[in-house]
Amino acid sequence: MLEILKQSNNPEICKPLAEAVIQKAKEFQHKFGRKPAFMEVCGSHTMSLARTGVKSLIMEDVNLISGPGCPVCVTDQKSIDAMIALAEGENRIICTFGDMMRVPGSNKTLLDSKISGKDIRVLYSPVDAVKVAEENPDKEVIFLGIGFETTIPILTLMIGEAENRGIKNFSIWMATKLVEPILRYLLDSGEVHLDGFLLPGHVSIVIGEDSYQYLVDDYHISGVITGFETADLLSGIYKLIDLAVNGKVAIENNLQSIVSKTGNQVIHQWLNKYLTPCEEAWRGIGVIPNSGLDFKSEYDQFNAKKRFTVKVGEPRKTKCRCGEVIRGLISPKECPLFGKACNPMNPIGPCMVSAEGSCAAYYHYMRES
Ligand code: SF4
Repeated sequence: MLEILKQSNNPEICKPLAEAVIQKAKEFQHKFGRKPAFMEVCGSHTMSLARTGVKSLIMEDVNLISGPGCPVCVTDQKSIDAMIALAEGENRIICTFGDMMRVPGSNKTLLDSKISGKDIRVLYSPVDAVKVAEENPDKEVIFLGIGFETTIPILTLMIGEAENRGIKNFSIWMATKLVEPILRYLLDSGEVHLDGFLLPGHVSIVIGEDSYQYLVDDYHISGVITGFETADLLSGIYKLIDLAVNGKVAIENNLQSIVSKTGNQVIHQWLNKYLTPCEEAWRGIGVIPNSGLDFKSEYDQFNAKKRFTVKVGEPRKTKCRCGEVIRGLISPKECPLFGKACNPMNPIGPCMVSAEGSCAAYYHYMRES
């Protein structure tokens, strides 16, 4: 235990915390005759839990299940194919987050398109896409808008910037996702038994603590809003087990200094100004109503789906099981391709490509666990 925790940001705190988690989990097992099972909703949590060693350290006593919170991973195959087809058009510059470049489409990746001469640019600051449009007035500049509530505000910032500067050759291909509809889907499906959720700190800054109350009211399940460092993760898990052992159901906020009850109201105003709920297709699940945000009609000028026609066929079928990984039905290692045909050098599915992907997290940090 000490070896793993030495790598943490605060080993003096983390060691007793880890011991307390294991002790509390044994109490749970004694009471209920099974291990507690929690889902980390967010891909960044999955990566942090694997990288810090927390997942390996407590796996004998706590079942931590990776959830649907990696935006690249949950984007369905047809959407990925459409984005790659979009990049094939003439006179276009596609701007994207780096994770998207190597996500396998049915026939190729965005990286393949770039190598073949298409102008595809990875931006570290998405707002730079507006600058790219300003500098290239004779080209159409399209940003691939993938992300959850943490990223969507940045997209609205980009629209505002383009609007203010009167830029006409900039648009966004929206494929955004929202947390509440997917959690409701998972709970309604009853496919996976859970005793609680580790809820992502960054999304919660935007949507606020109160926005999770439906978990308690409609599903009688707890959640703890948690940060990404070792001590945050252990403390969040401890609180979830403690609630379950004591027969309590609640939303607890481990990040009260930055996550308010109602979230960031300024961001809510931006979102309401430009965007409206829409159905979105999720990998391995299909379409979920009102599970994403798209442009309001008055902002069609920035809506790449309205400005460009892209036709794609049915996606090529593979043996990738990302759809089941995302839903928490299997762990990455249960995919027969894991670490063999599928690895970071030769990814078969998005969960092995993304910096928030469960398969990548298990490959890099938990292959031996
Ligand atoms: Fe898909 Fe590869 Fe993960 Fe299997 S290991 S689910 S093929 S990404």
